[in-house]
Amino acid sequence: MTPKKTYVSVILPLKLDWMPCYSLPEDTNARTGDWVKVVFANRTYSGIIAKYDIIPDTEPLKIKDVAGVCTNLSPVTAEEIRLWEMVADYYLCSIGEVFKAAYPALKISQEETLARMQERERAKREKLAENISLKIGKLEERLDRKRKKLEESENSAKKKEKTIAGLLESIEKISDEIIGLKGRLEEISASYYGAGESIGPEGGKTAGPDTGTGNMPEILLTEAQETVYRQVLTAFSQGKPVLVKGVTGSGKTEIYLKMAQRIMSEGKNILYLVPEIAVSRQLERRLQAIFGDRVLTFHSEMTAAARRNAAEKIRRSRSEGRQYMVLGTRSAIFLPHMALGLIVVDEEHESSYKQDSPAPRYNGRDAAVMLSTIHGCPIMMGSATPSLESVFNAGCGKYFMLTLDAKYYSAAEAVTEIIDTTAERRKRGMTGSFSKKLISRIEETLGNREQVLILRSRRAFSTVLQCPECGEIVKCPHCNVSLSLHRNPDRMVCRHCGFTAAFNSGCPKCGATLQGLGSGTQRIEEETRALFPSARISRLDSDTPKTEAADIINRFNSGETDILIGTQIVSKGFDFPGLTLAAVIAADSLLGIQDFRADEKAFQCLEQLRGRCGRRDKQGTFIIQTSQPDHPVYRQLTEGDSGTFYTELMAERREFGYPPFTRLVNLCIRDRDEPRAETLAARLAEALGRAFAEAGADNLPEIVSGPFPPPIDRIAGNYIRIIRLTLKKDRRLHDMKRLAATTAANFEKAARCQGSITIDVDPY
Ligand code: ADP
Ligand code: ZN
Repeated sequence: MTPKKTYVSVILPLKLDWMPCYSLPEDTNARTGDWVKVVFANRTYSGIIAKYDIIPDTEPLKIKDVAGVCTNLSPVTAEEIRLWEMVADYYLCSIGEVFKAAYPALKISQEETLARMQERERAKREKLAENISLKIGKLEERLDRKRKKLEESENSAKKKEKTIAGLLESIEKISDEIIGLKGRLEEISASYYGAGESIGPEGGKTAGPDTGTGNMPEILLTEAQETVYRQVLTAFSQGKPVLVKGVTGSGKTEIYLKMAQRIMSEGKNILYLVPEIAVSRQLERRLQAIFGDRVLTFHSEMTAAARRNAAEKIRRSRSEGRQYMVLGTRSAIFLPHMALGLIVVDEEHESSYKQDSPAPRYNGRDAAVMLSTIHGCPIMMGSATPSLESVFNAGCGKYFMLTLDAKYYSAAEAVTEIIDTTAERRKRGMTGSFSKKLISRIEETLGNREQVLILRSRRAFSTVLQCPECGEIVKCPHCNVSLSLHRNPDRMVCRHCGFTAAFNSGCPKCGATLQGLGSGTQRIEEETRALFPSARISRLDSDTPKTEAADIINRFNSGETDILIGTQIVSKGFDFPGLTLAAVIAADSLLGIQDFRADEKAFQCLEQLRGRCGRRDKQGTFIIQTSQPDHPVYRQLTEGDSGTFYTELMAERREFGYPPFTRLVNLCIRDRDEPRAETLAARLAEALGRAFAEAGADNLPEIVSGPFPPPIDRIAGNYIRIIRLTLKKDRRLHDMKRLAATTAANFEKAARCQGSITIDVDPY
């Protein structure tokens, strides 16, 4: 008699709409959540046991044994698997794709062994450590110089208090930065462990238990903040997600921090989500000042080893009786959270919470709400400019919305001035990209030793290159977009696929000298330098090397630069104490996007930027240069009351059947051959129409629209067509989404075009 076999289903890092079944060899000790090595389609993968002891639906003789159990890897928790299932179900992707997003480094193919991967990690880590050490060295030199200067100033006959205060402030900042960097260095050296080493709880260093929040600085809320704080507690006791709508500088963060302290004192952990880490360094320092080394920073650009290390720290925290607070970007929801007591979603409206590609194309904010239901823990989202989706959810009682109107510091809201560039040009009131009014405002501000922030939404020198003779516009060979001109060194760049070519100024068609149109941030920087030769100027956009971005922000923050020029990134999450003038050049490019969210996004960007200037006790000025001065987005900024603007936007969405009143699902078809893309898309749209008709859906034309080419219909050599599904938010929504997914999957199989269709739920 053969002994009874145990069968398990295994999650593999693949786009599979089913879970393959394996048998466990005798004497194998493995449970749900354990890592196993299995052979699938002749390749070896690391996977996770999703279900233990199942009844196989295939012929038992065909079922392979698992090839091994990875005892050196901590098992994933039931909560992690539950989240993967929920995300896969909502975003119409496979659980394997979510698994891959959660554990990217552990995807092991035959070509790449774990050992080789770890070797590479080691090299990367060493390089990083070296760079950080160098930087610490430089900062220490700077610190010395400042200290010397301070000594001189203090000993000098006429003590200038302002100079001394300034020096003290920068000394403190530099010291903080050094401490931060040293911390990172330690983390990096602690973050490595070889394949054979144990990474379970026993493998960690054993610090004494550190429970509670006894020695943390106390946060004193203002009356208005305290009221909101109490209301949040009430909402939590009703089990509802909370949305805090509070103007920039009203103290939302203070409320999150106070709440986090309370939750920690109960022995629980915190997940604090931010849209991007690059703009969250100030916040990181603020959190560290309160929560010390309990703060674990986590983001998607971390090396695989560092990510695993963060996961292990979380696992260890429990055995060591220690709380943690993860400060992270969206993928931090996939860490092995336990005893989670609070989730904070900062700047919940930010589109960077949404993952474009690859699957899962999830929104970190919405997935965080799923995570909160899995852990039964409260969640609070906050923004000065909440998304219409969240406002809608509050309106229908799903979320609990609280408002904080008053700024903490006394300064009134910045004065907004709209400058009509068409009218100015007619009056000869423009110098290049700058109106004379703006120039004199900048001069005035610099004269007061205050700072200026300039936003231009496009990077590059010229955004378009055109031939004045034959009219030719130079396009990317792989995408249907014009190439932009970048300086230093001169080159033409595609902003979609990254294609780069040398710039030799000749028209590719007729050879005449090309003309650059549309001023990007580089051009604005050049103009600014010419207009304000004595000002200290820097630029921040996605051309800025990652390693320099933090420096540029720090220098502007400490007043070492006078003018900062940048793309949208400069409107996000910073608190610059010396900033009193913010200006937007060619603001219309924020509106010119073919997208039903364009107005909402433009409003959010402008309102966020306005909130950044004049934060403390000095009222700021906000200038918008536009050729459409009467556009409602600008009008709402000058005439105040965002409430009416929200109502108008909401009415528009309802009228046209857009989210949040409906749910959108985009099916995207890509093919290197245009007619083929066209045909596939048309046939898929037909198949979807038929499927919905059979399912008894009425108003088909309202559900399936397209296929149509998107605004940029060719990217990286692929022609693109979109089919858009507009689904009613009713009882059948879930079934309809599933129907769309299965129809697309079956179509892909039948048409043998696997991989050319992607599905995006709640597209941005
Ligand atoms: P928000 O998150 O709403 O933009 P912050 O929490 O960052 O606002 O507060 C803006 C500024 O005001 C910060 O510098 C913060 O330290 C300060 N602040 C706000 N509330 C308080 C408070 N209750 N006590 C001390 N400082 C506060
Ligand atoms: Zn391109």
